[in-house]
Amino acid sequence: MITNQPLPSTMKAVVLEAPRRLALRDIPIWPIEAYGDPDLVLVKVAACGVCGSDYRYYAGENPWAMHTLGRHVDNPPNIVLGHEFAGEIVAVLDEKNARLLGRRVAPVCSKVCGTCPECVSGQTQLCPNTVHLGHGQGWGKRDFYPGAYADYVPAWGSGCFAIPDGLTYGEAAMMDILAVCVHVADQGNVQPGRPVLMMGAGPAGNGIAQAVLNLGASRVVVTDIADAPLEAARRRGFDAVVDARGKSHRVLVEELSALAPEGFGSVFDSVGGRDSFELGLRLLGKKGTLVNMAVHDLDIPVNFLRLGSERRIATSSNFATGDYPWALSWLESGRFVVKDWLTEVRLEDVPRVFAEADGAGRRAFKLVIRF
Ligand SMILES: [Zn+2]
Ligand SMILES: [Zn+2]
Repeated sequence: MITNQPLPSTMKAVVLEAPRRLALRDIPIWPIEAYGDPDLVLVKVAACGVCGSDYRYYAGENPWAMHTLGRHVDNPPNIVLGHEFAGEIVAVLDEKNARLLGRRVAPVCSKVCGTCPECVSGQTQLCPNTVHLGHGQGWGKRDFYPGAYADYVPAWGSGCFAIPDGLTYGEAAMMDILAVCVHVADQGNVQPGRPVLMMGAGPAGNGIAQAVLNLGASRVVVTDIADAPLEAARRRGFDAVVDARGKSHRVLVEELSALAPEGFGSVFDSVGGRDSFELGLRLLGKKGTLVNMAVHDLDIPVNFLRLGSERRIATSSNFATGDYPWALSWLESGRFVVKDWLTEVRLEDVPRVFAEADGAGRRAFKLVIRF
C-alpha cells in the first residue's frame, strides 16, 4: 500500500447492524490490500450524501436488487451505508495509481464485471456481478461491508473522477445521483419540443427535471406533496410546480392536463406507488414514455387502452458507465445546479436522523454528511 499520510488503524463509521439498527462505531479501517483488486484505492471521505435508497436499506429492503436483478435479496448484517461521496485519495495499491494520491475526487460507487452479457452489450447498469459500496452487493462475506458513512471508504482508481475547480466536496458528492438522473432522463425518450411531467421532486426528481430541459424538453412540470421539494423546484424556476397535497386524482388530472393538453411526451415517477402510476399513465401523450424509477413489490392492474398509440412503460434507476462523465460535464458547466440542495449533518448525528421518522433531518431537501 502506498500512502501520502499516516493512517489510523480504526475509524468512525455508521453501521447498519440489522434493519432499523444503525450505530456509530469504531471499526477497523478498510483492509483494501485484502480484497484482491489492485485497482482499489482508499478515500478519506469529505462529504457523503444521504440517499433516499439508504432509508430503504435501513428499513430492511434491498432496492438495488429490486431494480437491477428484479427480485428480492436479503441484506447482510453490518453494512456501512453511503454511496454518494467525495473526498481525497490517501492510499493506493498499484504503482500506476500513485499519481492519484492527494487528488480531490468524486468516485463511482460501484464496479461492474465487464464480462457478463449486460456489460458486453454496454448495459453496465444491469450487471448482476456489480460490486457496490454502501450495501452488501458483490463483497462476499465480510465483517463490515464498505460504504462512505465512515471516515474512509475504498473506491476504484479507474472510477475516480477529479473534482473540477470551483465545485465543493458537497456538490461533488451529488455526482452519483446526477449520473442516475442523466440515465433515467435518457430512458424517457425525451422529445425536443414536448412537455415532461416529473412526479416527486426530491433530489432525483429535481435532477431529472434539470436533465430533461438539458435534453431539449419544451417545458417541465413537477409535482410533490412536501415543502422542501416544492420550494427547491420553485427556486430552480421549473415551468410549473404543482402542490399535489390533498388533491384528488380527478382534480390533479384536470390541473395537469391543462398544462399539457396533448399529454406529456415523457412522464417520470420517482414515487412508484399506485396513485402516481395511474396518474402518470392517464397524462401520458401519444408515443409517450412513462419511467418508474422507484420499483416496489406491487401489483397494479393496467387497462391496455391507456397504452394505445405506442405509449410505453419503462423502469430505470442505475447509471451506466458513460453516464457519470456526462453528468460531471453538466455539473461543471452549470447545466446541473445543486448548490442550494444541501443541509449538512455530522456523522455522529446520522443514527438519530434515521430514527426520527419525521425529524428535521428527514424534512431537509438533501442531507450531506460533512467530515
Ligand atoms: Zn443513491
Ligand atoms: Zn457485468
